Formats: sequence, C-alpha cells, structure tokens
Amino acid sequence: MESYRSHYGNQRNIVQERPYNGLKNQGATCYLNSILQCLYMTEDFRQEVERFVPDQRNPDKESLMQELQKLFKEMKKGDCTTEGITQRLGIANVYEQEDVVEYYQKTLKAIGPQSSKVFEGKMSNKTKCINDHIFEEECHFFTIPLAIEAGHSEVFEVHNGLQTFFERINLDEDNWLYCKQCGQKNETETWNEIKDLPTILTLYPKRFYFDYYKMRPVKNHCHMDIPLQLVMSTNLKYELYAVINHIGNESGGHYNAVIKSFEDGKWYCFDDTSVREAYLLMYRSNFSILSLTQPLFSHLSERGARPFQVFRHCQQNSNLLSPSAGAEYTEVLQILSKSLNI
Ligand SMILES: [Zn+2]
Repeated sequence: MESYRSHYGNQRNIVQERPYNGLKNQGATCYLNSILQCLYMTEDFRQEVERFVPDQRNPDKESLMQELQKLFKEMKKGDCTTEGITQRLGIANVYEQEDVVEYYQKTLKAIGPQSSKVFEGKMSNKTKCINDHIFEEECHFFTIPLAIEAGHSEVFEVHNGLQTFFERINLDEDNWLYCKQCGQKNETETWNEIKDLPTILTLYPKRFYFDYYKMRPVKNHCHMDIPLQLVMSTNLKYELYAVINHIGNESGGHYNAVIKSFEDGKWYCFDDTSVREAYLLMYRSNFSILSLTQPLFSHLSERGARPFQVFRHCQQNSNLLSPSAGAEYTEVLQILSKSLNI
C-alpha cells in the first residue's frame, strides 16, 4: 500500500508543466508575438481559427487564417516560430521593431472581415453646423484611440480617456467645415457615437506623440489607472483580459502581453518564449482606490522598470492594492472581453 510519505514525496517530484507555450523572437518581433498570444487567448477567435476550412478553389485567399490554424495547433505542443506569419503579413525585416497597434490592425484586416468580426465595431463621426444641419460618417473600427491628458508624472485614467473620446468638440475657426445645406463654412461641432460595440473591445492609449518643441516623437511615461471592468452601455459590460505592455522609450523597447486565461482564470505573462504565471497581478474587489495607487507605487516609477517587478511587489502588498495597480506599466493596448451579464 502506498504510504503517505511516498505519495506526497512523489508528488513533490512532479514537474508542473506550464499550460501555454511561447513564441520565438525572430529578431525584434516581440510586437507580433504579443499580438498572436492575445489572439490565441481570445476564446471566440481561437475557435474561429480552429474550425476554419480553407477554400480549395481559392487557396491563397485565406492564407493568413490557414497559417494561424497551423500555428495555434503547434502552440499546443511547444514553443513555436512565427516565420509563416511574418511571411504572410509581408514583414520583410524581422530585426526592425514595429508598432503593435499598427500591426494589430494590419493582422485583423489580413484575417478578413468574416473571421475578425468579434474585434470589429462600428461608430459614426457626426458634425453639426450652427443651423443644426447634421452630417454623419460611419466607419468600422478595431481600436478606440485614447488621448492621454496627463503629464508624465501624473496618473491617466482610462475612464476619462474614453469620456474625452465621446465628448462634443467645437472646432477652431480654421477647421470649420463646409455645410452643403448652408452653402458655406460655419461654426462646427463634432463628436463620435458608437453604432455597434464589438465583442472584443480594444483600447489604445496613445503613449507616443510628436513633441513640436523637441521636434521628435516622445513617449508619455505616466501611470495608468485601468479598470478591470468597463460599462459601455446600460446592458453591456466588459471585463479586462489582456494588456500589451511596451517597456522602453520612444527610441525603442520591448513588448510583452499579460493575459488572463479563459481556460483556468489565471493571469500569464507572455514574453516571447518565456511564459510565466502572474496570478496576483490584479484584483477584483474595490474598483476605485486610485488614491492608494499613486503613493504606493511612486517609488517604482523609474523609467524602464520591468512589469514583473511590479507583479512581485503586488504579491507582497496584495491586501492594499487597487485592481489597477499591477497594470501601471501598460503602455500601448488593452483588450477587453464581453462579460456575461448582457
Ligand atoms: Zn448648415
């Protein structure tokens, strides 16, 4: 009969296998790896890729989907290379770092409207002249850009960024639009309205901007307060499940992705071939203790600090943190999934 000692002794010797695999960096393709891990960890999309049937009559048409299907299959077995994907996306120089948001959109476009539909929403930009003539232009979107109205040492609240995006603005006289009905340019008010919210909502806080005094692009290093849940309308609530980080500055850096698994509910940090558990990264209790976030983390604000240091710190102070605190190094993109209570 197995003894207590041998049973537990054996258990200690079992090497726990990590449930997810990494992606090899071809040179500077961490931006693409972060995107691909986010896509793989999006339940609806992974299913879409797995059930994809290539069109035999037109084999080239859906080639990226075929390549993703191959990759997702391989990702279940071990660390993978992404050469097939870079080829399909036409990335010639894998040693050049590209912008994650640009390539996120490029990838979704290349996937095609049918398969990328969970990421796509519809909004309209409206303009109104002084005589209340309204002109409307509809467009599809994969991301909502958020202007960061916070200084480098301040805290940017994603809620405020979203609010600003939907605010009505009176254009400066130089930018007044021509109204067909009035037959002249006159005072113009403009705003954005959502027509259809996507299943997966992606927000893009614009960290990088062009500084006209320095005459070069600059990165805003401010802390960010990212809510774990977002209420976008009375019956639609989103839950945060993925964050792509940019570590570095305007002259270069590195991307990784922190993603909550829909399979085991744990948070993982995907950093090229390194995949590690980050299960005390964020908290679900109290959603607005911003006042705690700043003093607690002010000593961690050195440029270039790596998010994992913050995660470890979170672990030690788990009872004190706001849920957003672990994500203060978020630089580029956050993805939110539709939650259950619709
Ligand atoms: Zn008019």
